[in-house]
Amino acid sequence: MSSGDAWGTHALRMRRVRDRLHESRLDALLVGHLPNIRWLSGFTGSSAFLLVEPGSATLVTDFRYRTQVDEELADGISVTIAESDLFGAVARCLEDGGTGPRVGFEDHHLTIRDRRALGEACGAVMWEPAGRIVGDLRSAKDDEEIEAISRAVRVAETALSEVEAQISEGVSESELAAELVYRLRLAGSASMPFDPIVASGPRSALPHAQPSERRMRVGDLLLLDFGARVDAYCSDMTRMFVLGPPAEWQVEIYSVVREAVRRATEAAAPGIAARDVDRAARTVIADAGFGERFGHGTGHGVGIEVHEQPSVNARSRETLQAGNVVTIEPAVYLPGRGGVRLENMVVIGDAGATVLNRFPLDLKQL
Ligand code: ZN
Ligand code: ZN
Repeated sequence: MSSGDAWGTHALRMRRVRDRLHESRLDALLVGHLPNIRWLSGFTGSSAFLLVEPGSATLVTDFRYRTQVDEELADGISVTIAESDLFGAVARCLEDGGTGPRVGFEDHHLTIRDRRALGEACGAVMWEPAGRIVGDLRSAKDDEEIEAISRAVRVAETALSEVEAQISEGVSESELAAELVYRLRLAGSASMPFDPIVASGPRSALPHAQPSERRMRVGDLLLLDFGARVDAYCSDMTRMFVLGPPAEWQVEIYSVVREAVRRATEAAAPGIAARDVDRAARTVIADAGFGERFGHGTGHGVGIEVHEQPSVNARSRETLQAGNVVTIEPAVYLPGRGGVRLENMVVIGDAGATVLNRFPLDLKQL
């Protein structure tokens, strides 16, 4: 039994998946996306399927995980160690279970190749695209998950406070990135949810810049976008610094982006369409004349994955609900000059959004 299952967390999650199966008139669901498997069963290995049927659940994995499953797997889930490939083992589970023919699969995640292999192995099954059944459920976090995410935010902010002292003229982006990773690990991050983005001067206008050998100069904007992972859960934040007194244009775009953060945070609440939160940020930026300079969405869900549901962008069809944890990260990028992005994480509660970050949002002059 996994330590996180003391109060039946996994059993509750499994029950909710079964309710969805019933609503979708599916006889079973084959879960192949590893973060979904982890959320439902506690299993952290890198090769598995989880077959959820009305009265049972079976984890199909290979011999490398024979011992690990005993340590990790939640109560009530049986294990099948595949002798050759996972697909054949899934087929045998379905036959042995006498499951009906309508089996859902995760069409957002399963590769075409694996879908074909399943089709060949399980001749009698009518495979049905099941959408994001588990992803939808995962998007509303319970208290324990919010606690883990909050700890991941704290770890990231501790590391940032330590790295701040190292930011000075002549230091390169890759040196700062290395320092950031080191400090994140020391502060308690189990791994990096993603490689930190460190972008200085004109490179701060590149939304996904890889740290380069560029050395910082007076007058540069510096963008740091990074996160930590604690107890499987991620954080993701962005802060800006300026070397020496900021130029007028830097102050201008900074205050626009900061206002966009404020308005989007204010707009976020249960029952609000995620795209309306995006619009709140986008309107501030467009009204200031920078509408063309903000080319990505306002935010995304964060949990076991650093990008998960719900999406907070203009195309999102999702409605925010209590328990969602999302980023708010509007930006203005001026090609050749520099950019500003600020990113907080908020948790949606009954009364609205609560910001999880404590690190100040001011433009810090170093
Ligand atoms: Zn980020
Ligand atoms: Zn982000």
